[in-house]
Amino acid sequence: MCRKPISVAENSRHMPLPKTMRAVVYRGKGDLRLETVPLPSIRSGDLLVRVAACGVCPTDIKKIQYGTVPPPRIFGHETAGTIVKTGALVRNLYVGDRVALHHHVPCQKCHFCRHKAFAQCTTYKRTGITAGFEPAGGGFAEYVRVMPFVLAGVVKIPRRNDFVEGAMLEPINTVLKAVRQLSLLGNDTVLVVGQGPIGLMFTRLLTLAGMQVIATDLIPERRSLGRRFGAWRVLNAADPDLSEQLHRATRGRGLDASILTVAADAPLRQAQTALRGGGTLQLFAHTVRGQTTALDLSQVCVDEKPLLGSYSADVTLQSTVARLVFSRQFDVRPLITHEFGLEQTAAAIELAAHPTPDSLKIIVSAGTATGPIA
Ligand SMILES: [Zn+2]
Ligand SMILES: [Zn+2]
Repeated sequence: MCRKPISVAENSRHMPLPKTMRAVVYRGKGDLRLETVPLPSIRSGDLLVRVAACGVCPTDIKKIQYGTVPPPRIFGHETAGTIVKTGALVRNLYVGDRVALHHHVPCQKCHFCRHKAFAQCTTYKRTGITAGFEPAGGGFAEYVRVMPFVLAGVVKIPRRNDFVEGAMLEPINTVLKAVRQLSLLGNDTVLVVGQGPIGLMFTRLLTLAGMQVIATDLIPERRSLGRRFGAWRVLNAADPDLSEQLHRATRGRGLDASILTVAADAPLRQAQTALRGGGTLQLFAHTVRGQTTALDLSQVCVDEKPLLGSYSADVTLQSTVARLVFSRQFDVRPLITHEFGLEQTAAAIELAAHPTPDSLKIIVSAGTATGPIA
């Protein structure tokens, strides 16, 4: 396809660039410091992207707060920004392009990929975006280097869309992947336990797919949001009568699927019991290795209610996700409640780790924060 040059910058392979940049460096458990670091240098197959927005993701919070990986690292992987330099071998991506990035992209050829178990692919497990040190996403910095093996995950952001919408592609993709595992039919009834940012994404995507969503949460504000995002019924997760209400809502047939965005024993068992025979339990929550729970195995085997798990994104859904988000059929902007400047990254992570009734998705903006988006 022929592409008309729009500016001088787009014809060249780089914009004027500084030698150093600001970055939030993880220096140990719970220790994040704003530092000046060298601008990442790029090789012939790489891109250099100036970060505009980076979502705060619970997987990073876990690594920072529990110190599960050795420092130093620069985290942040739900990144959107502008290409400011391209390596000599890069094709079809240009200086000036506004892009959303993926730090993990599967090879699409190996045994795991042929089984669509993309998150288990060796290439997928390599982090292909860095702002320096051991690659860890790098989105909490002003610039990131994007390596060749993740270029297939670069998505151009249309002019009318905000960077934050680009930064939301990755989390939306992970949620759509989990929905697609459920083999639902139109008008099925699905329980979504928890209406935080991830639960609301489930509610919206399932509603768009024609499902009847029953959304539960402990917090009244989140229940109202569940309704705003399209839930058919909204119930209080703490109601002692909840099982009975779920039974009534499906006229005694039981739920076609239950999705848990929290990994807690009681809701898990309740959600399993509320399924119809052959219904599916989907666990999409933050878990720790060694975490166990008691489930009634006869419900898994005799009643055919499997427990599924889903982790990370599915590259084959990328264009579907981009279409949903950029067309604003799924307008993600109401999910973004707080935007912090790069120097406030620690506060952004603190808020994401301890959400308030009015906090949902939290974004860090490199450079000067542009104020609330929604
Ligand atoms: Zn994430
Ligand atoms: Zn693979």
